[in-house]
Amino acid sequence: MNSQTADIATRIHERHIVIDMHADTAQRLVDEDVNLNHELADGHFDRVRMQRGGVAAQFFAVWVNPHYYGTGGATAIARADIQIAAVHRLVENHPRVWTLATCAADVRQAKTQGKCAALLGLEGGYAIDNNFANIERYFKMGVRYMSATWTHSTDWAGTSHDGTGRGRGLNSFGKDVTREMNRLGMMVDVSHVSDKTFWDTIAASRKPVIASHSNARALARVRRNLSDDMIRAIANANGVACVVFYPAFLDDKWNALKEAVQAETETLQALKLARETHSDDAVRERLALERVYEAAYKRLPQVPVSRVIDHIEHIVNLVGINHVGLGSDFDGIQATPRDLESIADYPNITRELLRRGFAEDDIARVLGGNVLRVMEDSERD
Ligand SMILES: [Zn+2]
Repeated sequence: MNSQTADIATRIHERHIVIDMHADTAQRLVDEDVNLNHELADGHFDRVRMQRGGVAAQFFAVWVNPHYYGTGGATAIARADIQIAAVHRLVENHPRVWTLATCAADVRQAKTQGKCAALLGLEGGYAIDNNFANIERYFKMGVRYMSATWTHSTDWAGTSHDGTGRGRGLNSFGKDVTREMNRLGMMVDVSHVSDKTFWDTIAASRKPVIASHSNARALARVRRNLSDDMIRAIANANGVACVVFYPAFLDDKWNALKEAVQAETETLQALKLARETHSDDAVRERLALERVYEAAYKRLPQVPVSRVIDHIEHIVNLVGINHVGLGSDFDGIQATPRDLESIADYPNITRELLRRGFAEDDIARVLGGNVLRVMEDSERD
């Protein structure tokens, strides 16, 4: 692509609000004490690269890994709280460059002021600990979306990641959770949940539903991706499906190659899961194992950035331009597409959309306009 196209992409990011719906960086703040105001040599996200990529707003996913912290209880709550506190601290310690955004207007204001907007989402409902009051508690801490599950089912919702979870949807408490989120103005995220939970959520929610980081199952046949019917249902509810950059969710061929290296990582996986404690040593050990995964997957051919655009185009062809967004999962994935190796590479998405003939207005919707609309709809009674 020529430098003129590159230039146009940069200007589009200057003129419009770019929002990433999902990065796992909050755990790096807690476990590695990284300084996000410096350009980091590793990982996928920091403020320097965020600004270079022309990204205005980042949703920090507050991920409670149930393997280590449980599907509820005091440890799950503490794990969520410590990540939220870390994001709060990041913003409070650097008020000239960061702002905590809790509504669409905050994001717009941050853009006008040239600040980076930090937002919060809960990945998996483990930290609410089956307690209704905790939903509002997290809302008051700034959390603006929540998914019911990650890879473990909760008592009230099934996950797409195991056979038992796939047989389960939302129970009556789960439906109440959805309605309480609607009441508060917390967006309901369907990434990772079982198909049954997805359809129960669509039925229970009176506000738009989001998928913070999910792709099209038609292009990559993994269960956590969205079927065409699901994408249509999200669109009918005026919601947004945000495509995720993890190669295994983008491309079946890459996923098959990954399975092939799985044999050598299986022992590591067992070792990793055996470590159920959250001592500093266990955390350090897990981080070291993550690096081993990354090294193993680096040997695989990279999926091109254009594959991300294939998923965007698939969604656009199904339901139009108003229901697609972006949720990288940066710092939560052990491999990235080529030319999309950190948040700094976001303009390469825009360049590929331009190359495929998307108009600036439409690109602006994909980059963040659609998410802002859903936020505004969620904020209204
Ligand atoms: Zn996830």
